[in-house]
Amino acid sequence: MKKRIIVIGGGVAGMQTALRLAEQGLEPVIVEKEPELGGKLRGWHVLFPTFTPAEEVLTDLRRRVNESGIEALTSTEVVALTPRSVTLADGRVLTGDAVVLASGSTLFDASIKEEYGYGIYDNVFTSADVERMFNEGRVSKTDGTAPRRIAFLHCVGSRDEKVCQQHCSKVCCVTGVKQAIEMKRLFPEADVFNFYMDIRMFGPGYEEMYREAQQTYNIHFVRGRISEASPTIDGRVQIKAEDTLTGRPLRMSVDMLILLIGMRANDDNASLAGGPGLERARSGFMRPRNLFLGNIASNVDGIFYAGTVTAPKTIGESLNEATAAADAAARYVGA
Ligand SMILES: Cc1cc2nc3c(=O)[nH]c(=O)nc-3n(C[C@H](O)[C@H](O)[C@H](O)COP(=O)(O)OP(=O)(O)OC[C@H]3O[C@@H](n4cnc5c(N)ncnc54)[C@H](O)[C@@H]3O)c2cc1C
Repeated sequence: MKKRIIVIGGGVAGMQTALRLAEQGLEPVIVEKEPELGGKLRGWHVLFPTFTPAEEVLTDLRRRVNESGIEALTSTEVVALTPRSVTLADGRVLTGDAVVLASGSTLFDASIKEEYGYGIYDNVFTSADVERMFNEGRVSKTDGTAPRRIAFLHCVGSRDEKVCQQHCSKVCCVTGVKQAIEMKRLFPEADVFNFYMDIRMFGPGYEEMYREAQQTYNIHFVRGRISEASPTIDGRVQIKAEDTLTGRPLRMSVDMLILLIGMRANDDNASLAGGPGLERARSGFMRPRNLFLGNIASNVDGIFYAGTVTAPKTIGESLNEATAAADAAARYVGA
């Protein structure tokens, strides 16, 4: 009989894990709490660093999952697990021979940073809102008019001890550069500013994109943190910042303030970790058994990790890990 592996989460990591398991003659079952497979990518427009439509990547993965005949239980939430079973929110128990946890991360809630007025003032958005606007083909100020000045603020809910999120979310810098370029392509006359602490362009093609943003699109990068935002009577947002390179305070009115939100640990991690005794890092992300020789293994035999459940990652990194996690799970069940 085929060995059955339960994959928790049907984002890119979960789908790739299941595909790789199926290729090796195993029987994966994906358990996904949302009505559709895809995870965060369902909300993204085009992907850094190539501006590839997110839909293209999703369609390909979903088609292959479908064609492989992989069982996918959608609208089904896992509330507890052991190495050989998962308990669903409706009380049912699914059994298997191993589990791969690919339940991803949660987006930081920008309204926690009250000083930026998200959810209070018009024209304050998050990077996730901007992805949705691009997908819907409606990028504009709240009143429907075109923006003339746009400011991006990096590291919202990342590298911020005040909100207990010390980690770097890794993908926000490059997302800010990508979205700034998209804005300039759409509104060539607009002035676009990126306020950053450091620019972390770690991946292939990222640094080139950052240069292109400055040289080709004339996007302005200001090293400094916005301390507060407030509404003006003409519907704009006034921001106060300090340019930390010149040491000068800065005040500016913008039509759109876009907060680059980070990834924080999945809300479910604490409860999922409890039963089998999975270790978590201080950030709340799951802690791999060994960062060098076993970053897809958990501290519990028979439970493996794939994707952003252990830390912020790009799609490419999540897919690679998923392949490795599937191989490790296959070895574990003796395939
Ligand atoms: C604003 C933003 C833009 C980004 N843009 C890019 C980009 O352009 N290029 C790039 O390479 N990367 C990008 N990323 C990173 C990318 O989104 C992640 O690498 C990717 O989503 C990770 O996939 P995942 O499968 O690990 O997690 P997720 O996409 O979070 O998927 C996890 C899945 O698990 C499900 N799940 C969670 N808990 C349970 C449970 N208890 N039971 C059942 N199901 C559960 C969730 O519903 C979800 O479908 C971006 C990130 C952000 C924040």
